Amino acid sequence: MRIETLAVHAGHVPDPATGAVSPPIYLSTTFAREEDLSLPHGFLYARSDNPTRRALEAALAPLEGGAVALAFASGMAATAAVFQSLAPGDHVVAPADAYHGTGKLLKEVLAPWGLASSFVDMTDLAAVERALTSRTRLVWVETPSNPALAVTDIARVAEVAHAAGARCVCDNTWATPLLQRPLALGADIVMHATTKYLGGHSDVTGGALVLKEDGEAAARLRSIQALGGGVPSAFDCWLVHRGIRTLPHRMRGHCDNAESVARFLADHPKVQMVHYPGLESDPGHSVAKRQMSRYGGMVSFQVDGGAAPALGVVSRVRVFTRATSLGGPESLIEHRASVEGPDTRTPPGLLRCSIGLEHVDDLIEDLDQALA
Ligand SMILES: *Cc1c(COP(=O)(O)O)cnc(C)c1O
Repeated sequence: MRIETLAVHAGHVPDPATGAVSPPIYLSTTFAREEDLSLPHGFLYARSDNPTRRALEAALAPLEGGAVALAFASGMAATAAVFQSLAPGDHVVAPADAYHGTGKLLKEVLAPWGLASSFVDMTDLAAVERALTSRTRLVWVETPSNPALAVTDIARVAEVAHAAGARCVCDNTWATPLLQRPLALGADIVMHATTKYLGGHSDVTGGALVLKEDGEAAARLRSIQALGGGVPSAFDCWLVHRGIRTLPHRMRGHCDNAESVARFLADHPKVQMVHYPGLESDPGHSVAKRQMSRYGGMVSFQVDGGAAPALGVVSRVRVFTRATSLGGPESLIEHRASVEGPDTRTPPGLLRCSIGLEHVDDLIEDLDQALA
């Protein structure tokens, strides 16, 4: 089945009790036993499993071409579960430009628990190989990266990880399963902040893991999901599940608009550099062309002159909203260096845009007047 059809139908069956086409939201935390104490539907207690979360997980797995999916309360809860499945003394190789929460989690929370990590430029395969040790159990990939949209070759990194006896996990939040298929390229696990494009409306926080195989790793993560308790509410599951139904069509709109905005910015005299893998001039273009079907809705650009003129642009936008996050229908703009704080590696003139679903001419006219 094609992804548009999967997105609409996966995890959806008319409710057997009522015929409801839109799935009910089951708020019950507990489930009744029969006289012989059996559980007729397999549900016991909502934290370990419940019908609304199960429906969402049933949609997530085929969407990424995986065998099993686990839903979490946030992208970070999903990420933390992956790292918690490792043991003290194990080692993780992660991108130097990983989502800042991922890097902070490894350094501030997991290092004191004995999980070692090295941060490398994932676009440099030799650097990845040099960082591997006999204790490396996991190589974390995030592509395109935040906020510079660096593109990592998933297939090659997965190969290097496997040769070293490590798993490869890919944060596919920015590309979505519509544009990039990490499991087919060799990754073992895909992580999503469903807060972003999968939810798609800036109104739900969530995360997910999708595994290629329903084996030992899945069992371990399922146990961390239930015992760690970082699980989403029934309403949150329902919102993400609903968001997924329109994901393919929303992504088309995001990509169409972002490609036009990137081309407009690339030709603008006050723009020093545009980071968008869809531009032929982008250093990540050739790898992106191979592993992505399109280039996504995120565009970063550097304003000539650094922080002050960049902040000026942010202050003048009218259609774009000044806010963090991404993946909703509304276009957002953010000065990343201010958000990331004093130890940021982000260039001071860089602005990150989540290109939304407004008419593209309104977005371009807004940036044009803000850059003037
Ligand atoms: C937002 C985001 C996360 C974290 O997700 P939360 O739902 O905010 O916890 C992780 N990775 C990427 C690429 C993100 O954009």
